[in-house]
Amino acid sequence: MIAGNWKMYQTTAQAVALVERLRALLAEIAGVDVVVCPPFTAIQVVAETLQGSRIVLGAQNMHWEGEGAYTGEVSPVMLTDLGCRYVILGHSERRQYFGETDLNINRKVKAALRHHLAPILCVGETFAEREEGRTFPVVEGQLRGGLSDILPQAGEGTVVAYEPVWAIGTGHTATPEQAATVHAFIRKQLGELWGGAARLAVRILYGGSVKPDNIDALMAEPDIDGVLVGGASLKPDAFARIVHFEKVHR
Ligand code: PEP
Repeated sequence: MIAGNWKMYQTTAQAVALVERLRALLAEIAGVDVVVCPPFTAIQVVAETLQGSRIVLGAQNMHWEGEGAYTGEVSPVMLTDLGCRYVILGHSERRQYFGETDLNINRKVKAALRHHLAPILCVGETFAEREEGRTFPVVEGQLRGGLSDILPQAGEGTVVAYEPVWAIGTGHTATPEQAATVHAFIRKQLGELWGGAARLAVRILYGGSVKPDNIDALMAEPDIDGVLVGGASLKPDAFARIVHFEKVHR
């Protein structure tokens, strides 16, 4: 699975141009799920532009209620109404700048699953936490917090994205080995939480400065099931090259 997080970029006209180009570049995709997550304001035009294509739509955040007096928020019902199939939850930028807690992220994960949206739950340590040797406990806390009180069957379709905060938008990609070590840890945690079937079924994406020149090495790691791409997802040629990663077997 290759997912693009457009963050707070792209007016509607820019979004249409981007996705038209992507459609053309990705006409032949097979064996990989491609997801684009535009800002809320561009979801509708992107949905229209993607009609009949295999590229699917996701959102970058949502509220946990179906509707209500929550000024400025967008609900899961509104997202499915526009054709979204995925929603990114707990992105580190939301944790860092908007005070998102594991408790609220867990509410959102549960709401997404209830509304048949596949959550892409983001977890990852800061540079300081890695330096202090706390990568595993931090990731475990975010994972168990985000998936708290969700039974394995209810959690079907969940995607986890390991995004070390120090690698996001910095150009400092984790090495394939660093990423694979944490992915294996996440997979083990998923097995403990949800059992052996989920351990294999849940897709674990890597995110953090993924580019055409590092995608092949990342995807060669058996525990890396895909990537969540920020900056490079705004460049159609780069994103298309990432989608067309070369299968290098290790
Ligand atoms: C992200 O925002 O999820 C991300 C991985 O960003 P970038 O690829 O720009 O590091």
